[in-house]
Amino acid sequence: MSECPSKKQNLAFCTCTYEPCERKGRCCECIQYHWPRKQLPGCMFPPEVERMYDRSLKRFLQCHQT
Ligand code: SF4
Repeated sequence: MSECPSKKQNLAFCTCTYEPCERKGRCCECIQYHWPRKQLPGCMFPPEVERMYDRSLKRFLQCHQT
């Protein structure tokens, strides 16, 4: 896949702490990877949840219940 022209700006925004991931900075690839697994990218979660690497929709909804 070609290099993303927005990668530098995306990395400034990226809060994912899973450093070995080859998709970091390529947000479209994050979505394509996680969504079929019923997951969302790490940046959608608060830091204390993100670092547990549970990217499930269930966990996302738990985080955002009021
Ligand atoms: S959210 Fe997932 S796909 Fe995106 S950089 Fe982090 S581990 Fe990789």
